[in-house]
Amino acid sequence: MRGLMQDAPLTIDTIFRHAEQHHGDVPIVTNNPGGKVRSSYGEWADRTRRLGGVLDSLGISADGRVGTFAWNSARHLELYFAAPCTGRVLHTLNVRLFPEQLTYIANHAEDEVVFVDRTVLHLLWPLIDTMKTVQHVVVMDDGGDNEIPDDPRVLDYETLLAQAQAVDFHTTDENAAASMCYTSGTTGNPKGVVYSHRSTVLHTMAVISPNGFGIGVEDVAMPVVPMFHANAWGIAQAAPAAGAAMVFPGAMMQPKALADLIIDEHVTFTAGVPTIWQGVLPHLAGREHVLRKIGCGGSAVPKALSEAYKEQVGLPIYQAWGMTETHPVASGGTLAARYADADEETKAGQRARAGLPLFGLEARIVDADTLEPQAWDDTATGELQVRGPWCAAEYYNPDPGTVLSTPDGWMKTGDVAAMDGFGNIRIADRTKDLIKSGGEWISSVDLENAIMSHPKVAEAAVVGIPHPKWDERPLACVVLKSGETATEQEILDHLAPLVAKWWMPDAVEFIDEVPKTSVGKFSKKDLRTRFAEYPIQG
Ligand code: ADP
Repeated sequence: MRGLMQDAPLTIDTIFRHAEQHHGDVPIVTNNPGGKVRSSYGEWADRTRRLGGVLDSLGISADGRVGTFAWNSARHLELYFAAPCTGRVLHTLNVRLFPEQLTYIANHAEDEVVFVDRTVLHLLWPLIDTMKTVQHVVVMDDGGDNEIPDDPRVLDYETLLAQAQAVDFHTTDENAAASMCYTSGTTGNPKGVVYSHRSTVLHTMAVISPNGFGIGVEDVAMPVVPMFHANAWGIAQAAPAAGAAMVFPGAMMQPKALADLIIDEHVTFTAGVPTIWQGVLPHLAGREHVLRKIGCGGSAVPKALSEAYKEQVGLPIYQAWGMTETHPVASGGTLAARYADADEETKAGQRARAGLPLFGLEARIVDADTLEPQAWDDTATGELQVRGPWCAAEYYNPDPGTVLSTPDGWMKTGDVAAMDGFGNIRIADRTKDLIKSGGEWISSVDLENAIMSHPKVAEAAVVGIPHPKWDERPLACVVLKSGETATEQEILDHLAPLVAKWWMPDAVEFIDEVPKTSVGKFSKKDLRTRFAEYPIQG
């Protein structure tokens, strides 16, 4: 016997139409350098339909990639919907990537157009001739002062929109690609994750559910996590789906500006990486606000940070765990209610965990090689693996040899976790050879190669060490060739022209040898343990 229910496709235009039909009066605010811009879902819907017309008139192919290089803004929200609702694929380019990586991913995704905020135009424009498939650069004037090049490829967003015809949205294939996001590889090139309409709608439902971020019609939601990073943790779809008002920080990402925006715009829900909340804390502490939930993840959320928010802002941080490959929100929340009678330390410990998998996903911890399940006793650790309809099955045209899934169909995360008896996740370590600073990745392998190009260096291993502001910062452990001497400054001077400024190690330690595993690989785990208490300056 078959179920007799309608088989309606789970497509993103259903979210669009819901917001358009039922929440047209709900406000949207963007904080631009030139001042706040106020609109509503009604205006947004009208402009998004016309933006669909712009994509047609620019001649973007039926499933062409629509690049964005932009802060969180109402215009970016227009792009988040106009691209997938007309069958195109939104491709958010991360404004913090290096030039070579930007060129690589724009070419790999075959972006046909890039929509760019004027405040970051100077980072994109010099690369434009290296982006082989990009035919148009559409500038969104957010009040930045970058000069707009006099070039036939450069177009103005508002001019195009004013001339455009509104279009109908009717995507029908829920498995078609809707958007893509690149994530850093341990080695080799960035890897493309391609979200489908279906995965996006299901992820949206999980994000708005009470065990997720719990976003509803009475909320004012402010995504601080960038729309160019990991799908803004789903908030840009969740808020319109829930009819929640939206507040966008635009380019105004300074901690005080964020705290003022939270208070002045009556924000009830916001989310970002720990570094953001570390910076915002002193500007928010003791002030009156209507915040109900602060989502945080992307790196370990220090217990001290969550407890400081509880003390000084009046609500603890809601920790979530996920990855670009999981849309990204996969687990979150606290089981503190189950520990209502426990002591404060136990409750704080509960709040510092990465939570349960959100309904719809499953998680397990296993030996990464044998896939042997590990006990849920909060002591045994194993690779965290997940499966479900918003987990990536594979990457987009990956480098040969890239494996994301296990033979039995689970997604490998590269994170090491323990689970308690309820399956509540505690992230313990990471096997990925990457360092996460302020929410963005630094490749330790690339840094090591750059250091090892110094003529006096025999071996170098770079590890992430805990840092109060940035969560992690690189520490370079260097072995010199026998008989050589060198100073820290010499190594740093050598690196400076080779890597981005924010990748520069915070310190160089000269060591006798890099500890190795039984198969002769660098044992980063040993180095991380050895330097866990490294006295780095905050
Ligand atoms: P995002 O930053 O949105 O989580 P990325 O794909 O850039 O997405 O990074 C995912 C990785 O970040 C995870 O595999 C994990 O290593 C780390 N991470 C995410 N959330 C947490 C968390 N709550 N605790 C510890 N590490 C986390």
